[in-house]
Amino acid sequence: MTLIRSVWHTLQAMERSSFHNEREGKKGGTAYDTSLTLLMKCKGFFYVQARIWKKKGMIIMRIMLKDGSVKEYGQPMSAYEIAADISEGLARVACAAWVDGKVVDLRTVIDKDCELSILTANDQEGLRVIRHTASHVLAEAVKRLFPEAKLAIGPSIDTGYYYDFEHAPFSREDLDKLEGEMKKIIKEGRKLEKFTLPREEAIKFMEEKKEPYKVELIRDLPEDAEISFYSQGDFVDLCAGPHLMSTKGIKAFKLTSSSGAYWRGKSENAMLQRIYGTAFNKKEELAEYLEYLDNIKNRDHNKLGREMELFTTVDVIGQGLPLLMPKGTKMVQTLQRWIEDLEDNEWGYVRTKTPLMAKSDLYKISGHWDHYKDGMFVLGDEDKDKEVFALRPMTCPFQYYVYKATQHSYRDLPIRYGETSTLFRNEDSGEMHGLTRVRQFTISEGHLIVRPDQMVEEFKGCIALAKHVMTTLGLQDDITWHLSKWDPDNKEKYIGEPEVWNQTEQHIRDILVELELPFTEEAGEAAFYGPKVDINAKNVYGKEDTMITIQWDALRAEQVDMYYIDQNGDKVRPYIIHRTSMGCYERTLAWLIEKYAGKFPTWLCPEQVRILPISEKYAEYASKVEKELKKNGILATTDNRSEKIGYKIRETRIAKVPYMLVVGEKEEAAGLVSVRSRFEGDEGQKTLEEFISRICEEIRTKEIRRETVSE
Ligand SMILES: [Zn+2]
Ligand SMILES: [Zn+2]
Repeated sequence: MTLIRSVWHTLQAMERSSFHNEREGKKGGTAYDTSLTLLMKCKGFFYVQARIWKKKGMIIMRIMLKDGSVKEYGQPMSAYEIAADISEGLARVACAAWVDGKVVDLRTVIDKDCELSILTANDQEGLRVIRHTASHVLAEAVKRLFPEAKLAIGPSIDTGYYYDFEHAPFSREDLDKLEGEMKKIIKEGRKLEKFTLPREEAIKFMEEKKEPYKVELIRDLPEDAEISFYSQGDFVDLCAGPHLMSTKGIKAFKLTSSSGAYWRGKSENAMLQRIYGTAFNKKEELAEYLEYLDNIKNRDHNKLGREMELFTTVDVIGQGLPLLMPKGTKMVQTLQRWIEDLEDNEWGYVRTKTPLMAKSDLYKISGHWDHYKDGMFVLGDEDKDKEVFALRPMTCPFQYYVYKATQHSYRDLPIRYGETSTLFRNEDSGEMHGLTRVRQFTISEGHLIVRPDQMVEEFKGCIALAKHVMTTLGLQDDITWHLSKWDPDNKEKYIGEPEVWNQTEQHIRDILVELELPFTEEAGEAAFYGPKVDINAKNVYGKEDTMITIQWDALRAEQVDMYYIDQNGDKVRPYIIHRTSMGCYERTLAWLIEKYAGKFPTWLCPEQVRILPISEKYAEYASKVEKELKKNGILATTDNRSEKIGYKIRETRIAKVPYMLVVGEKEEAAGLVSVRSRFEGDEGQKTLEEFISRICEEIRTKEIRRETVSE
């Protein structure tokens, strides 16, 4: 290349000099002329070649854009300038740039070939830059209004951003004031400018500003790290970026909440105050998000369940030990009666009732004493007491001993034991949450003792039952099905032969396919003794929990020496299915609260009908109606207060009661009730008998009526 280039320059120089010579009427020497002629003969070739690298000679970088096109530049350009070169419109909405896999500032100067894409608020990363810049604006606003506050860190997060300050807790009024100040800073349209300092100077700089957390952050940076600062007017923050070019790019923001947070997340450190905020590109997007947040908050079972007086917690009773109040208890009772009757009457279960505790001897056999003792509530002291007990964390061995109490022949199997079983798990108090993370809970537990040849059919039955339960509760679209498999690369974690594992997993796979359940396969999630099916669901905040599990166990009958007598009179080990049909009642209640935002299907409501007499004059008729409803198993109450009827109606609606019956003179005279429902509003007058027969049918069929009116 260099050779050709120098030849080309020589050629050009000769051409130029020959041109000069001609113009000046001079003639060059013969040798010179000859070589010139020779060279000129090659001109065609050189000319074409030269045009290519003449162009290249000026180009210092080629930028490959997202759409595959290439831009060429002869001098270094900032990402912003490249955006402007692509289009003015793009430069206006640009937030940051993506360069060779890294998100950088628009200020970043590009001086060599790269892949580049300009990020806008429509890109997740672009939006992050807006939000992160908003956190700087928040920090400046805090320093303006609360100059004594010390700055810690302020990153963007998935839902927005936060900034931690050393300061007294901020009130909502403080946040409102800060929002006002942030608006000013944004309106001022301050340019964000980047500069770097050597380590010692950077430390001195932040020491002078009396920002000890920033000093600590700088000291912790690796030796070779660039220490960069961003200023917006007088406000300077230590930060690696990237940020917007100007505060003006923040179009819609909100400070959503504040709470305490330990410096660097460690409880031995100082408690700081964290302010959470979010930012969007458009006001409408922000409004939509805030509405969504509100909706979530209003559905959160830990808030709504308490407001609806379904449960409460009490400090002196303990964390993770919720108290179900009468309404919550009624709901759990409804669920429990349904599940027990369903299992016993339609799915062939028999019920057991086994102790809530046992001697350590039992847990030694089951393996819990060795592997799970920390998670159990142990009663007594092993060193001092003759017998030590523990509250049970599971039901399996208790039901095994029910099985072992009698001898069984192959004809007796399958035996399906069901138990509404209360279990205890001593989990970390930091993990406790409402009804979903608790230390005592009650589960629709069951163990099926089956012959190996019955296993596939019985396993299928368990899955079909769980599916039926989920569908009846209206949760079928909110769950995900998983086949939890062993991990063939980690064979030592499991017992049993690889062929058996593969075969068993194939059986379960076939069942899930046959039942038309969409499922994912999860390697390494099986129990050590066999694969299982897990049914998971998410709470309002998107956190996933396992609601139901159905486990295939071909190996543990051995543990407690369970057997049946086969056709030949030989003792044979049965297979076991560990399963639940609805999971844990507390967790299911929490899930229902969030799913229905407290507006449960009528059959699950702790108060199905509220009778509202128009005045005290009709109290007697109201009481007659209530009695008649209760006689039919309908959960009814009467609001006999001397409040205005409009007020009573409003309160009933807020309490999310599905039906209200308004009774006055006309109704009493004709034996009628005026029906208003949560579903359709005014449903008109009906005879009491007609109303009763309709609501009984709705309850019996567990109908989930749609709401066609809004409040
Ligand atoms: Zn920053
Ligand atoms: Zn079990």
